[in-house]
Amino acid sequence: MALIATVLAAAIFAVDTFSPLDMAIAVLYVVVVLLSANYFGRTGLLAIAGLCIVLALFSFFIMHSDDFDLSAVMRCLVSLAAIVVTTLLSLKNREATLSLKDQADLLDLTHDAIFVRDDTDTIRYWSKGAEELYGWTRAEATGQKTAALLRTVFPAPVADIRAELFNTGRWEGELVHRRKCGDEVAVMSRWSLQRDERGRPSATMETNSDITERRRAEDALHKAQSELAHVTRVTTMGELTASIAHEINQPLAAVVTNGEACLRWMGRAVPDIDEARASVERMIANGRRASEVVARLRSLARRSDPQHLPVDLNEVVDDVLLLLERELASHRVGLELALDRSMPAISGDRVQLQQVALNLALNAIQAMEGVPPARRRLSFSTRRDADDDAAVLLEIRDRGPGIDPANLPLLFNAFYSTKKDGMGMGLSISRSIIEAHGGRIVPTLSEGGGMLFSVKLPVPKEAQS
Ligand code: ADP
Repeated sequence: MALIATVLAAAIFAVDTFSPLDMAIAVLYVVVVLLSANYFGRTGLLAIAGLCIVLALFSFFIMHSDDFDLSAVMRCLVSLAAIVVTTLLSLKNREATLSLKDQADLLDLTHDAIFVRDDTDTIRYWSKGAEELYGWTRAEATGQKTAALLRTVFPAPVADIRAELFNTGRWEGELVHRRKCGDEVAVMSRWSLQRDERGRPSATMETNSDITERRRAEDALHKAQSELAHVTRVTTMGELTASIAHEINQPLAAVVTNGEACLRWMGRAVPDIDEARASVERMIANGRRASEVVARLRSLARRSDPQHLPVDLNEVVDDVLLLLERELASHRVGLELALDRSMPAISGDRVQLQQVALNLALNAIQAMEGVPPARRRLSFSTRRDADDDAAVLLEIRDRGPGIDPANLPLLFNAFYSTKKDGMGMGLSISRSIIEAHGGRIVPTLSEGGGMLFSVKLPVPKEAQS
């Protein structure tokens, strides 16, 4: 390049000095300055500009040493001005480029993958971090369309994401990309929109950090939690064994009694068909009840991945009451129900929610052991949340002694138990189940004495009325 510039400068000098043309040939030195701008440092460029000025002046003196005609002087001044202005602009441009390069070098220092894409989704800048994360070099990635190169899987419709980006100037979310080797990579992605001086969107900078490992750890944690939930559920069922055995035995005994009665009605000289039919109907009802209890138990004992299906909290209460009936009777605990049957369904796992209600209710029954039977009351209430249209509440209240307010923060700690054979896992598991459903579980000391556990769960948008 230095050679071309030198040859060009020499040619201009020759034409300027020896041609008879009355033109500002020296203006062409700006080409030499421009050519050199990208290849020489600041001092080099100044030296070249100085040399061009000296050459222009030298030609002028050779040509016009005897007659200083005004137009020739003007031509020479215009040429010199052009060289000076071009040099200054080149220096300024060079500084701007250098500062941009410094910034780009800084971006290379971070481990995040950073790239810039223009309004046609074409990659214009690709950081070292991006090279490392995705496997394509800067040269390979630049000029490609982002979505096609990375085979992006978006968490929401692309039009919605773009709308948010244009309205707020930024977007944040999780994406799934593919590396050059074909592996999937989950990234936390932050987009920021760059606008030109007229405010029009010109480019988007995307900063992505690899969360594949974190995702894997989260999945493993969820799996461990759901296994633990299963274990504690089976343990809770263990606490209920005596009353469940009774719960099943009672209808079976009723089936036998009614069967015998039926035979007697049939065995009469004139069989009483109506009475026999009534006995059979009672047998069927009792048989159904026993099989319902067994079905509830089997679903509680089954181990399956948490589901996200519409669940009516009132039905959850019904299921739990079926298992608790005997427990309530044997502890002489009265039941109060205030269920809003018109409340919308939530989305979740019915068995897990049964587990929460069962835990809270069993704790409540156990807490009332020390109070006189006449005061033992367990209340279930379901309703819409008056303060939040998009939520429903399930509240379970007892009339026990409550707890020391200082211990309230400990309640949900794993292994916190004041019972001699307590595991201290019930409330901790209940809270993680409710939080996994996007809800909250709040204990309060209720005014009339005893504890009130309030479970708040979100209602999915499509179920809100
Ligand atoms: P566990 O029942 O095995 O002790 P939980 O996590 O279910 O485990 O409960 C932890 C502790 O919280 C209980 O030991 C008890 O001290 C307290 N607790 C829970 N529910 C109530 C309640 N309704 N009234 C009073 N104390 C309660």
